[in-house]
Amino acid sequence: MKSGMHEKEKVETVRNYLEGKLQDIEGEPIYDVYNPAFGKVVARTAGSGPGVVDAAVDNAREAFRSWSSVPVTDRVKILFRLESLMRENGDEIARIVTTEHGKTFDESYGEVMRAVENVESATAATYHIMGRNNSDIARGIDEELIREPIGVFAVIAPFNFPVMVPFWFIPYAIGLGNTVVVKPSEKVPLTMQYVSSLFEKAGIPPGVVSIVNGGQETVEALLSNRHISGYSFVGSTRTAEIIHRRGTETHRRVQAGASAKNYELVMPDADLKSVIPSLISSFFGNAGERCLAGSVLVTLPENHEKVVNAFAEAASKLRLGFGLDADTDMGPLIREDHLKRVESYIDKGVEEGASMILDGRKKRSTKHPEGYFLGPTIFDSATGDMKIVTDEIFGPVASVMEAENLDSAIEAINRSRYGNSATIFTSSGRSAREFVHGVEAGNFGVNVGVAAPISFYPFGGYKDSFFGDLHAQGGDDHVMFFTERKVVVSRW
Ligand code: NAD
Repeated sequence: MKSGMHEKEKVETVRNYLEGKLQDIEGEPIYDVYNPAFGKVVARTAGSGPGVVDAAVDNAREAFRSWSSVPVTDRVKILFRLESLMRENGDEIARIVTTEHGKTFDESYGEVMRAVENVESATAATYHIMGRNNSDIARGIDEELIREPIGVFAVIAPFNFPVMVPFWFIPYAIGLGNTVVVKPSEKVPLTMQYVSSLFEKAGIPPGVVSIVNGGQETVEALLSNRHISGYSFVGSTRTAEIIHRRGTETHRRVQAGASAKNYELVMPDADLKSVIPSLISSFFGNAGERCLAGSVLVTLPENHEKVVNAFAEAASKLRLGFGLDADTDMGPLIREDHLKRVESYIDKGVEEGASMILDGRKKRSTKHPEGYFLGPTIFDSATGDMKIVTDEIFGPVASVMEAENLDSAIEAINRSRYGNSATIFTSSGRSAREFVHGVEAGNFGVNVGVAAPISFYPFGGYKDSFFGDLHAQGGDDHVMFFTERKVVVSRW
């Protein structure tokens, strides 16, 4: 696909998906949607206020009445159809993700497949909805646990995974008999708008999945609607705290994935040849806009120089560009203001006295000078009190710290307010075990740079990286989150 084709595209108007149809949004404010590689507006969306949101929720409540009593075997058949449609249209979905988000086509396609895998996991709803029973808990008395869907759930998504994150929740919620109102990020609404056409083709009845677009004002309307039973949120810690507080103070269920600052420790016994590509993909994949991205690299005195040199050399070779062009290794950041924010952290790192060994500000895309590009940036001699180490930067900036040994590395990592993921590269099972048991984080990589759990495992998160107790994706958590239990004691 040549980038020129996209430059000619006109500005599209994003619509909500309500009652099984795309509908114009007559709300405010208006949000520009960019192709960040070109620095150009490709679409506009608008805020959905309380009127639109309440109507969507009413519609979802109405749909819940019939959908919750559709046999689970029939609901699952619809999920199978959705899975096939998403696979068949995987290239097109990925192309839209790249256009509005900026990540490379391969990264987008990987994201789409992660979404598809969640649909596959959700087809186990026939098993997940099963209850339990005991005959004769007392003589002639039986006891039974029945699982039931609950009602309408809201899904509120971040910009960095336009399709995967909504699919951490949608297929499970609906497979188990609930209905959902989804609010994509206002920065990337085009992907879910396209996917809504597949909902229709798969045979998902109107109102079972609705999409309301907008930003903070739309979330506010969702939080104020008392008919929503629970919120599945993913985004920054700042917003996650608001959603969690507002949702729980009105006694709703909330699961809220939040910000991250992930550490990757390279032990001297690690195989450097395989470590470096893993580090590159972790720190600079998705231009660092990944909640599982490596952000702080920890080495020991014995391997420090070797690791840093090899890491910087590999990072300096990454080519910036539009994600649909074949020669692109790394796309742009999402917006100009975000680029400026990340650059201000680079300034801060210099002021704080970290030593800059690769300056990404000097690297731009020659083909797309208007894009929001920033090359890989690496600071050495970073310390735990520096902002570049304490704060989530969410860009291609790596800070390297040296620890004396494994114990002091674990201690340094645990000083972070976040605990999304942590990785160790080592050939020692004992070091790996100590690391996994000692570090306070939810997702671990052992010789794996991006510790992304497969769909049938929950997506972890400790400390300020997660609010709630039942996590996203498959496993048991979604069954508990999206169902309620009844216990029946009977004597006949
Ligand atoms: P964000 O918090 O700015 O926005 C997330 C969602 O909340 C969007 O839909 C947005 O419209 C809405 N929102 C924003 N501000 C709001 C407010 N004040 N009140 C109500 N709603 C509001 O996050 P983002 O910038 O879109 O996403 C990046 C963040 O998400 C990063 O911090 C990243 O680490 C995190 N993230 C976490 C995970 C995880 O699983 N822990 C996964 C992906 C991204």
